[in-house]
Amino acid sequence: EHWMMCAIVGAALLLSGFSTVMREQATRQQYLLRILLRWQAQHDPLTGLSNRRHFEEWANTGFHQARQECQPVALAIIDVDHFKKYNDHYGHQQGDYALQKIARSLQNVANRPLDLAIRLGGEEFAVIAYGETAESLDARLHGFMTELRALAITHAHSPTASHMTASIGICEVMDGENLESVYQRADQALYVAKTSGRDRVVLWGNLPLPAMPVFGSKY
Ligand code: GH3
Ligand code: MG
Ligand code: MG
Repeated sequence: EHWMMCAIVGAALLLSGFSTVMREQATRQQYLLRILLRWQAQHDPLTGLSNRRHFEEWANTGFHQARQECQPVALAIIDVDHFKKYNDHYGHQQGDYALQKIARSLQNVANRPLDLAIRLGGEEFAVIAYGETAESLDARLHGFMTELRALAITHAHSPTASHMTASIGICEVMDGENLESVYQRADQALYVAKTSGRDRVVLWGNLPLPAMPVFGSKY
């Protein structure tokens, strides 16, 4: 009877230990799954860059924090030149590889803790940088342009150059400005970069303002 009791108690202890381990494992798995789902919801699957949703979340808190800390924030919109022609000539798969290479270079530019490199969609990207003026982000994006040139992605059908190029519009967030308005101004600078020959960076602050066209919002 004594040994029987010992065996029952031992088995019960073993069972409870086992169930504790299983419960801990399930909690850990749920935690990792939550992190994975959150990452997936905030990133673009092709390039691994942040997506529009993450960009908007960043802006919601980042703009507010910048105002409180009196820090500048700069936004750049990057659009690959003549990408449709590239796709049509080299195929969608090669187009995807090119986008991945460009995304890696952009990620190298946006390498500070509060920077965000974003794929807005298609061949359109953005970089948002906390604590940066338009001029300092401009300097960093010239580094990206150099890297893009060094990648030398052959684009035989580009009217701009023999390799893949990009056009960039940059602006700095004004006091109390919202994302929609900042985006519109960066887009205006991008429009000027495109229409004045592509393969260049244009700062909104350098535009001849009275001549600026007004665009519809993308937000
Ligand atoms: P521009 O110099 O004026 O910017 O011309 P563009 O050809 O780059 O611009 P347009 O908007 O005419 O074409 C964008 C192309 O991007 C069209 C579409 O085939 C391609 N594209 C959009 N998303 C993807 C993608 O995920 N993968 C690939 N490979 N191509 C894409
Ligand atoms: Mg384009
Ligand atoms: Mg485009």
